[in-house]
Amino acid sequence: MEEQFKQIAQWITASKRAIVFSGAGLSTESGIPDFRSPGGVWDRYNPEDFYFQNFLASENSREKYWQMATEMWEPIKKAQPNPAHLAISELEKLGKLDCVITQNIDGLHFRAGNSEEKVIQLHGTAIFVSCLSCQKRYDRDEIQERIKKGQKAPHCDDCGGLLKPATISFGQSMPEKETQEAYHRSSICDLFIVVGSSLVVQPAASMPLVAKRNGARLVIINRDPTPYDDMADLVIHGQAGPTMARILEYVKQGLRIED
Ligand code: NAD
Repeated sequence: MEEQFKQIAQWITASKRAIVFSGAGLSTESGIPDFRSPGGVWDRYNPEDFYFQNFLASENSREKYWQMATEMWEPIKKAQPNPAHLAISELEKLGKLDCVITQNIDGLHFRAGNSEEKVIQLHGTAIFVSCLSCQKRYDRDEIQERIKKGQKAPHCDDCGGLLKPATISFGQSMPEKETQEAYHRSSICDLFIVVGSSLVVQPAASMPLVAKRNGARLVIINRDPTPYDDMADLVIHGQAGPTMARILEYVKQGLRIED
């Protein structure tokens, strides 16, 4: 394993454009459950209840959606960045990170110290709520207070539109600017490191493919196998936190040797 960590560190040190692509597995060590692991969100809820079309179509779906979103908000609110988030933020400080493309909605890359311009949030953010009609933004806690007081599916104060966390649900359009930027960066990077993603949610999961087809090295760090393991240059089936912390150590050693 140490040899693999060293190899990834060498690739990071040598790379000019390294991308970290993160998924829910990056944040499980911060106490936020992922979707597909046993005990994850889809063990307790039916994904079909959360399709965007259903949210738009029925009050019952909206109430179920807000019930799940409320359950997920508690761990997100309490979560602290773990060693993997901190290592990724450190890579930015060392000048070794082109960008982070994240599917996560928990804001932990920012709390770890990554800057706004380095993080592309493909699936939006749970930190805010927005009105689907007039796009007015609300602080998440303000809306959660309303739910605590008994509202089941809140509406906009200004226009009466439907309020929803500013995340992208199944069936909802991807944010155009972020998606284009992520594809562009993936197509010109020289190293693409997946951390904690099952790589099954599209279109995000096609980005490692874009990177690989354009000549980048592909590294996958995930607890369980993914559909892209066979095409990766190196795969580590392990925990994100200790793995990234170790890799960072070797990157720092390598940079010191280069000085
Ligand atoms: P996923 O649930 O499909 O897969 C998570 C993967 O992470 C699994 O393959 C699992 O083996 C791995 N994993 C779990 N803990 C790990 C750890 N400690 N170290 C290494 N690997 C670990 O997640 P996904 O691929 O991100 O797709 C799910 C979708 O759900 C995303 O679109 C995301 O927006 C959303 N989501 C986000 C959060 C969050 O923001 N923290 C949490 C749940 C779901």
